[in-house]
Amino acid sequence: MSDAPVHAPTVWRVALPLPLPRLFDYRPPAGHVATAADVGTRARVPFGNRELVGVIAQVGAASQDSPELKTALAGLDPEPLLHGELLDSLLWLARYTHAPLGEVLATALPAPLRRGEPLPDTHAWAWQLTEAGQTARERLRAGQPRRLADRLQAGPCDEDSLDDTFDRWRSAAKALAKRGLAERLAVPAVPRAPTPQPGPVLNAEQQAAVDAVLAARDGFAALLLDGVTGSGKTEVYLHAIADCLARGKQALVLVPEIGLTPQTLARFRARLGVPVHALHSGLGDGERARTWAAFARGEARVVVGTRSAAFLPLPDAGLIVIDEEHDGSFKQLDGIRYHARDFLLVRGKALGVPVLLGSATPSLESLRNAQAGRYAHLRLRERAGNAQPPRVRVVDVRKRPLEAGLSPELLAAIEQALAADGQVLVFKNRRGYAPVLLCHDCGWSAQCQRCDAPMTVHAGGRRLQCHHCGARRPAPDACPDCGGLALQSQGAGTERIEEALAAKFPEVPVLRIDRGTTQRRDALEQHLARFGTARGILVGTQMLAKGHDLPNLTLVAVVGIDEGLFSADFRAPEKLAQLLIQVAGRAGRADKPGEVVLQTHHPDHPLLATLLAGGYAAFAQAELAQREEAAFPPFTHLALLRAEAKHSDACNAFLQAARAALRDADAGLELNGPLPAPMPRRAGYQRAQLLVSSPERRALHAALDAALPAIYALPEARRVRWSLDVDPVDL
Ligand code: ADP
Ligand code: ZN
Ligand code: ZN
Repeated sequence: MSDAPVHAPTVWRVALPLPLPRLFDYRPPAGHVATAADVGTRARVPFGNRELVGVIAQVGAASQDSPELKTALAGLDPEPLLHGELLDSLLWLARYTHAPLGEVLATALPAPLRRGEPLPDTHAWAWQLTEAGQTARERLRAGQPRRLADRLQAGPCDEDSLDDTFDRWRSAAKALAKRGLAERLAVPAVPRAPTPQPGPVLNAEQQAAVDAVLAARDGFAALLLDGVTGSGKTEVYLHAIADCLARGKQALVLVPEIGLTPQTLARFRARLGVPVHALHSGLGDGERARTWAAFARGEARVVVGTRSAAFLPLPDAGLIVIDEEHDGSFKQLDGIRYHARDFLLVRGKALGVPVLLGSATPSLESLRNAQAGRYAHLRLRERAGNAQPPRVRVVDVRKRPLEAGLSPELLAAIEQALAADGQVLVFKNRRGYAPVLLCHDCGWSAQCQRCDAPMTVHAGGRRLQCHHCGARRPAPDACPDCGGLALQSQGAGTERIEEALAAKFPEVPVLRIDRGTTQRRDALEQHLARFGTARGILVGTQMLAKGHDLPNLTLVAVVGIDEGLFSADFRAPEKLAQLLIQVAGRAGRADKPGEVVLQTHHPDHPLLATLLAGGYAAFAQAELAQREEAAFPPFTHLALLRAEAKHSDACNAFLQAARAALRDADAGLELNGPLPAPMPRRAGYQRAQLLVSSPERRALHAALDAALPAIYALPEARRVRWSLDVDPVDL
C-alpha cells in the first residue's frame, strides 16, 4: 500500500480531535506490534505538551516525512470501538463534510469515550443461589433469608425486580451471602418493559404504508411518509418497529429536539413492550455513554433520540425512522456541520435497511427525491380516527387597530373559543416583550453593541437582551441620543402578548411557553400538566408547534408572520409554510373541530394564497418550480465558506484567496462572494462568506477536495476563523 522503504516501522495513523485535515503517525507502545486489528481502537498519544485521545484510523509504514516519530502512550481498547458499517459511514461523513476525521469521530463519540474512558459497563446485578445454597435451602429456618432462597431456587433474579416484589431483600441477601449460600452476578441490563398495549386499528392508507415498509424490509429503501398532521404517522412507525423487533433487529427513531417529550417516549414504551432508550441533550455524559455501549453490544433494541442519536452503533439494524424529516434541528450548525437525516440515509444504505422519513410538510429535498423516483412516496391524506381538518380563516389587519399586535377579530375569536370551553394557542415566533426599543422623538433604537441587530426588550420593558450574542443590559430611562423620555417598545413578543391577554381575559389562565419560561427539558411538560385541559390560553413560539398533545385545543391564532414572507433567505418560504402547517395542525382533535386564524397585512401574498387553496403539496410544487428556475437546491449543490475576524479586511482577504484556489481547482464552479454574512457583525466579529455552487454534486466535492489543502495552507487563513458548510441551510 505504501511506497515507504521496507525498513520503515509500522505505525498507528491516529485521527486526533484537531482542526487539521490529516492523520498523525505514532509508534505503538513498547511491546505492541501494530496490526490491522488496531484500526478503530483508541490510543492515548503525546501531542506537543498535551496528551490527546484519538482513534487509530489506519496502520501502515511510517511516511518518510516524520523523522521524529513519537511513541503512543497507550492503546485503550482490546477490541475496536468503531468498526464495520459505523466506521465506514463516519469515514464517508468526513469526506462529505470535508472535515478532519478526528473531529468527526469526536463528534460521533459520547464525551467519556472521547476522553479515553473505557466502554462503560451496561450490566445490571442479579442474585442466585450458590451450589451450597441449593443444598442447604431446605434446611433453612423460616424467615426472610429462607423466603429469598426459595425465590432464587427458580433461578437468578435481578435486583430491580427484587426491589419491586420483595421487602427488605437486601438484608436477606446479605445474610445468605455471608454464609456462602447466595451470590451476586452481573447480567446484561435489560430495562424493564411494560406490557405492550394495543393501538387503534389501522385505516387503509396507514395499512398500505406499513405494508410498503414491510415489503422493503430486506434491504435499503428510502420511503417518504407524507401524511397530514394527525394522520397517524406515528402509528405507522410503531407497526414497522414492532415488525423489526419481532425479527430480532434494532430500530432507531430520530425526532426533533422539541418532539422528544416524555409523552412521546411513553407512547413508544407503552406500545412496543420492549425497553425504549431515549437519547437527548438533557442526558448526562455517563448515561449517553451507557446507551452507546448498550447499542454497540447489541443489548439495546430501540432508541428514540435527537440529532446525535444518528451516531449510535447498530450491529443488528432493522429499521431507521426519521420523524419530522424536514426539521431544521437535524442539521448541526457549528463544529461538524452534518445533517443527521442525510447521514442516516447513508447509514441505511450501508446497513441494508429501510429508512422511513415522515412529515406533514416534507422538505423540498425529500419531495424532489420522491418525485425523481429515488424514494417511495407514501401518503396519508386524512386525519386518523374521526378527526376533521381545521378550518383556516385569514384576517386582514391592514388599517385595523391592534393591541399588542392582536386585532379585534382575533380577540373575538379567542373569546368565542373560550366561551365554548376550548383552549386557545396564540402563536408568535418571537420571544421577549418587544423586538425593538425606539425613541419616538429622535428615532434612536437600542442596538446591540456587538451585533448588527436590535436588542429585544424583555421583562416588561425593563431589560434589553440580544438574541444573537446573549448581551444584556437594563433598558435606559431616557434616550441616550436626545435625552428625551419618549422611549417606546415597538411591536410585540410573546411576553407582551401574554400581558395583554391576561388583562383582557382575567378569568382564564394564560400560559407562556418560550425559551424564556421553559429552559429545562421537563419544564414544558410540567407547565402543560398544570395548565390542564380546562379552558385557557397558551402563548408561545415554535416550541409549541410540535410535541405535547393538546386534545382540547380548538383555536390556533397565528400572528406576526409577515416578516417571514419577505426574507432574503431562499429557504424562508419553505420554513414559513412548514411552520404554518405544523402550528395549524395542532388545532382540533378527534372530538373537537378546530379553527385557525391567520392574521396578516398581506392576505394576498402568493405563499398564503397557494397554501390556503392547495395545502402544503401545492405550495411545495410551486416552490420547487421556482427553485429550479433560480437554480437553487435541490437543483444545485451548495457549499458555504464562512470567515469571521475582528476586521472585515481579514475575512475578505481570506475568502478572495480561497476563491482563487477554488477557481484553479474547477473553472466551471459558480462562486459568489466574498459577501457580508446575513448578519455582518455578531458578538464583536465581522463575518463574510463565499458561496460555492455546482449543478453536479460530484464536481463540487472534487473541487473542494482539490482546493482545500491550499486553503488550509493560506497565510490569510491564520488571521480568521473559517469553516466550510456543505449543504448549508442558513445562508
Ligand atoms: P401523526 O404522527 O401523523 O401526527 P399520530 O400517529 O400521532 O399522528 O395520530 C394522531 C392521533 O390519531 C393519535 O391520537 C392517534 O392515537 C390517533 N390515531 C392514529 N391512527 C388511528 C386509527 N387508525 N384509528 C383511530 N385513531 C388513530
Ligand atoms: Zn431620542
Ligand atoms: Zn449581540
